[in-house]
Amino acid sequence: MSRQIDAAALLNDWVLVHEMTHLALPDIGAEHGWLAEGLAVYIEGVARVQAGNRSIEDVFSEEMHSMPRGLPAPQGAGLDQDHSWGRTYWGGAMFCLMADVAIHQRTGNRLGLQDAMRAVLRDGSTNHRARTVTSVSWPPTMSGRSKKTGKSSSTRHS
Ligand SMILES: [Zn+2]
Repeated sequence: MSRQIDAAALLNDWVLVHEMTHLALPDIGAEHGWLAEGLAVYIEGVARVQAGNRSIEDVFSEEMHSMPRGLPAPQGAGLDQDHSWGRTYWGGAMFCLMADVAIHQRTGNRLGLQDAMRAVLRDGSTNHRARTVTSVSWPPTMSGRSKKTGKSSSTRHS
């Protein structure tokens, strides 16, 4: 990190939050990279709104603009097979948004994707390599255990 960076630049930077989100997820295999990137893209916005350094309007505006990039092409492949940039980052983020909404709906707004991620951390954060997820099911099931800059940016590549 540059010594010239200031506090305002750190508050407006999405990269640090995105990369820290990756640290919270065990290795899930290259074919599920869309989930790792989708979680990082989706959670970055949510976390920065919760921290007060990004407006919810800015996050929704970016998602409305960018999530369509994650839609499959006609007769396109699923997220496990299509490793294009749009499908990986924004298709993954769209999956996470839908999972978050579904979890909220099924739990009467008691739980969300953040609770699911907290459960992942509780179960395996200290030993990432020991836990490898081999499949992702949709719709998500509940186990009973309890979820750039300040301007919109369309470049996601980490
Ligand atoms: Zn990433």
